[in-house]
Amino acid sequence: MDDKDDPVHREFGHPAGGRHAVASALTAFARQGIPLKVVESFRAANRAGGFDCPGCAFPDRNDGRGVDSCEQGQKAIAWEMTRRVADAGFFARHPLAELRVWPDRELENVGRLTQPLRYDAASDTYRPIPWDEACRLAATGLAALNPGAVAFYTSGRSSNEAAFLWQFLARAYGSAHLPDSSNLCHEPSGYAMKDMLGVGKGTCTLDDFEAAELIVVIGQNPASNHPRMMAALHRAAARGATVIALNPLDELGFRDFADPKELGGLLGRGARVARKVYRVKIGGDLAALKGVMKSLLARGEALLDQEFIAAHTQGFEALRDDLAAESWDAILVESGLTRAEIEEITDLYAASRATLCTWCMGITHHEHAVATVQTIVNLLLLKGNVGRPGAGAVPVRGHSNVQGNRTMGATGKVPARFLDQLEAVFGVPVQRAPGLDAVGVAQGLLDGTLRGFLALGGNFGVAIPDGPRVRAALENCELTVHVATKLNRTHLHPGRLGLILPALGRTDRDRDEVVTVEDSMSMTHASRGIQEPLSPAMRGEPALVCALGEALLPGAAPWGKMAADYGAIRGRIEACLAGVFDGFADYDARVGQPGGFWLPNAAARRQWNTASGRAEFRVHAMAEGPVHRARRRVGPQVLALMTVRSHDQFNTTVYGQDDRYRGIFGGRRVLFMNARDLAGRGIADGAAIAIEGLAEDGVPRQLHGFRAVAYDIPEGCVAAYFPEATPLMALSLASRITATPAYKEIPVLVRPAAAG
Ligand code: SF4
Repeated sequence: MDDKDDPVHREFGHPAGGRHAVASALTAFARQGIPLKVVESFRAANRAGGFDCPGCAFPDRNDGRGVDSCEQGQKAIAWEMTRRVADAGFFARHPLAELRVWPDRELENVGRLTQPLRYDAASDTYRPIPWDEACRLAATGLAALNPGAVAFYTSGRSSNEAAFLWQFLARAYGSAHLPDSSNLCHEPSGYAMKDMLGVGKGTCTLDDFEAAELIVVIGQNPASNHPRMMAALHRAAARGATVIALNPLDELGFRDFADPKELGGLLGRGARVARKVYRVKIGGDLAALKGVMKSLLARGEALLDQEFIAAHTQGFEALRDDLAAESWDAILVESGLTRAEIEEITDLYAASRATLCTWCMGITHHEHAVATVQTIVNLLLLKGNVGRPGAGAVPVRGHSNVQGNRTMGATGKVPARFLDQLEAVFGVPVQRAPGLDAVGVAQGLLDGTLRGFLALGGNFGVAIPDGPRVRAALENCELTVHVATKLNRTHLHPGRLGLILPALGRTDRDRDEVVTVEDSMSMTHASRGIQEPLSPAMRGEPALVCALGEALLPGAAPWGKMAADYGAIRGRIEACLAGVFDGFADYDARVGQPGGFWLPNAAARRQWNTASGRAEFRVHAMAEGPVHRARRRVGPQVLALMTVRSHDQFNTTVYGQDDRYRGIFGGRRVLFMNARDLAGRGIADGAAIAIEGLAEDGVPRQLHGFRAVAYDIPEGCVAAYFPEATPLMALSLASRITATPAYKEIPVLVRPAAAG
């Protein structure tokens, strides 16, 4: 077990992508002892008749040509296709107290979970139990609890069928506490767009990347987090479109990318993709975009799509007045950009006839996230860049089916019509009151109001801020049930009755069944496993939820029928979503369609399901954030910390210690710092440091054992890896309105370790 963390910083010296990406994918399979399976994986991943990559939610090309997956996808696939097992023998040898000191990557690297497990407090180990006993215990445990004290978490990897059944099971049981990973990522995007455009989903398809004249990538590092998007950007730049990025970091993928699917790229010939990366400071995107709009309007309204504004929008006047009143000094200070840079962006935007904006966690993990997303949409509306080819809003989701889970109702708040139809279809009453989101559930665990926690995948206790306190709180629960493919840290904190139920993954054959997923651009398609499960005791998630339902609420649904035929689930999904989400007519019949089908998006057709029936501009001030407040409270030495993902991880899953695109090798406990901030604190490059979190809840939070790395990052801004840095933040540090944790705006103090 390798727990060494000894990071070194050196230039990678090669383009992003290229032959290193292919080598890394091959290595991932070799490390799992299944080198030859990479062939099947490349053949079947994201291909009609194959399985959907369990990585991010970037859409498939569906052109049937060549490989349609990336290095990161192949790592996630190898991680799942492994033949290693975390079986009864393993758990008998390793008490949880010992496993808790293992690094996260080593926990998951043990292998696949192959049989139901129950926590045995006497030996502090998990013990194997038969399925019927596992379901009986879960049902008994739930029956003994007040449903209002139980939460049902959904990670974005679950299929539509499993997520739909999970939310029904929870609601029929009486709980609507359905937190999901969207609460932790794009909740602000969904809320902001629904409010302004009437739909909470992106308005573009992959074809729009082929038609756009300008693509603005905001708060996103696609080379590591959505690598196939790099190929789309690369193609766009090659055909003459302009790609720019707003990002505190000048990420390698933007300045030097080699597409491994092209011979030149495979031979290592890279190319610049983004004309320029505008180095906003952390949280400075809103100010930068207000600057662009202010400059655009100052140049004359003839540059706007006045016809579109008149015919399709409302609220333009209030926005115009707000922008006119906004001070350039404030814009420049808050954005971190120069006036000349803002004018450059405005030149590009004014000249472009079709612009699309993409964004990710760099926008949504802030206190003012909703305001920033709405500012992006304001910018697009000014030139009618919604609902026409090459133009639109693209929140790129980080989990393969997080959007599908939401469409299936696996969330705390759903339309009344969906609940009506759920009751009509199943003939049983369901919980209709809104439920808690992820932060609400974590607070419920901390204050003891929640006594039961069930999770359909995920690693809640690590993804959530204040993880160590939340994990400890899980142990006070009467019941914890984890449906999982691999062991993770959250599982090491079982409740009094703690169960782990082994699920099949995307790559595992589930008899002859297919499941469905929905990507970031509303394409819904089938996924079929390609390899025999490691054990007959592993179950497909939909069948597994049916088994729990049969034990807990035997009469509430034809569980057996649905477990035997997933088409029966899709028939009920179709009935429950009618009039709630268009596009599910003949759902089961259309599942086999190669490439799947697009769920209509009203805003993409310029139909605005908003309060006014028009697209609505929204005015937002450049409000103070947690770092501003901490600087007023503590002093100017306070730094703004953003958490980032390395190139060797996917969400909380860490495959390895390297982040080669940023030149970090052999460790993750690093803090990227500006050289002037280092000098100003008497800290040498590479020196040991102590990091203090300055949350407003008064709970002391410190991290030790980190190294400072001199890095090209704006002054006053620092970066560290997720999830290692999340113990520095309070649950209350979250986006206004949607309570999405503000993982990218954590006020901290940094000192030499000695001064710790
Ligand atoms: S871009 Fe995302 S979905 Fe596509 S193969 Fe890579 S990780 Fe998987």
